[in-house]
Amino acid sequence: MNKPTITVIGSLNMDLVTVAARFPNQGETILGEQFLTTPGGKGANQAVAAARLGANIRMIGAVGDDAFGQELIRSLQNEGISVDYVKPVTHGSTGIASITISERDNRIIVVPGANHALTPEDLDSCESVIAESDVCLLQLEIPLPVVERAVSIAHRHGVRVIVNPAPAQPLPPSVLEQASFLTPNEHERTILFDKMDEEAFADKLIVTEGAKGVRIWQDGQERLIPSFQVPVVDTTGAGDTFNGALAVALAEGKPLDEACRFANAAAALSVTKLGAQAGMPRRQEVESFLS
Ligand code: ATP
Repeated sequence: MNKPTITVIGSLNMDLVTVAARFPNQGETILGEQFLTTPGGKGANQAVAAARLGANIRMIGAVGDDAFGQELIRSLQNEGISVDYVKPVTHGSTGIASITISERDNRIIVVPGANHALTPEDLDSCESVIAESDVCLLQLEIPLPVVERAVSIAHRHGVRVIVNPAPAQPLPPSVLEQASFLTPNEHERTILFDKMDEEAFADKLIVTEGAKGVRIWQDGQERLIPSFQVPVVDTTGAGDTFNGALAVALAEGKPLDEACRFANAAAALSVTKLGAQAGMPRRQEVESFLS
């Protein structure tokens, strides 16, 4: 089978992870136990998930002119992802997520940095890249006008576009109308349709419901495609793995229910391992798991 081509338009972040016994009080300095940096950002995560499952991936995004930016680019290249359309931004840092984990809780600050320097005009200059894709995949860690422009370009060229509405926020009607699929989790679903009529978009809705599975609507009928039961180690990145895998399966021409089953399998495998990108399975693992 020919590898499908998927364009992922989204964020690249460096995750800065600190592990500490507890959080410091106001004005207090404490010693932490561990520190590590790992590539992240929903865009890059979903690109990696899809690349490991056997698609040609082109990433559209932005990084700062700094060491984190170079490291993120290298990490995508190591996965075989094309970074020709990742824009280097001279004024602004690479996006980061500062994550502090203690025994009972975690606290996260995201600084979007270069991710927010991506403009609709950048997308215009990538029109042919989008037009030549089998599927486009987007999330909401880049400016909304960029999402709107990308969806409209894909729609104009008849390219199927998946919008993963995370982090949760309402979307303009044009995006809801022109997207081929919307993939909220249960919380994102309530934000997305707070002021919109959900029923009007039911045929493009794919709601991920964690360990339960995925809810879809076909020919007016609601269906739950159940998750696979697995020993859970770390659910970080389950949603990103699901979206990357869904894009691959749809780009390969699988029908929606089969594509959701494939994506459920990939996401289930990801929760059995630690880390977001580190836990994302390869094609062979998913095939064996399903057989
Ligand atoms: P996250 O933010 O943790 O990455 P999410 O909230 O975006 O995830 P979920 O609906 O929790 O998305 O999970 C996405 C998909 O991952 C589910 O539809 C399912 O296929 C799979 N999944 C998540 N949790 C489990 C689990 N405990 N066991 C098996 N599969 C799971």
